[in-house]
Amino acid sequence: MTFTWTAHRFAGGALALDVANSVILRFDPARRIDRFADVPALDGFAGAANRFCAESQRFGTLLPVAEPNRTRLLTLREATDRHFRAQAEAEQRVDLMADLLEAIAAVLRGAGNGGDAVALDTATAHSALSLVANPEPDRLKICPNCGWLFLDRSRNRSRTWCDMAVCGNRSKAKRHYRRSKEEAQ
Ligand SMILES: [Zn+2]
Repeated sequence: MTFTWTAHRFAGGALALDVANSVILRFDPARRIDRFADVPALDGFAGAANRFCAESQRFGTLLPVAEPNRTRLLTLREATDRHFRAQAEAEQRVDLMADLLEAIAAVLRGAGNGGDAVALDTATAHSALSLVANPEPDRLKICPNCGWLFLDRSRNRSRTWCDMAVCGNRSKAKRHYRRSKEEAQ
């Protein structure tokens, strides 16, 4: 079955977090899936981000990452995840911020000065840099179901799930399943 990027995949609230969330179930080595390991899926991400990403207005038309820059984007993605995951867990890790800044610099150095359209790797670097420069630790959360990072933009910061319709419901279904199993015993 061909994989499709849906609105749910852009629940992060910032491009850099959506990119970090392209690894599904990071915490579970047995079920972990890297959606960017599939080149057509990686190339399709930019077009989907134009439609669904919270920062789509900021970057104009996103283009897929050029082949020679893919490795730098993946390094940036991993550094982004580690830094913001630590921040969401209220860990002070200056080393992780330094790694992230280095990864951002590497992408920007390789990008050149383009025209109106911006490549995914460059836009991700700018997005990550904005999040570093203007941290929102109170809004940065980790979905307890899927482990995705997301910015809680709700007025009273009451969001628990990356996406209530997906992870909220799955969690409810799990609870229901556990309850009915217990009752059956
Ligand atoms: Zn989730």
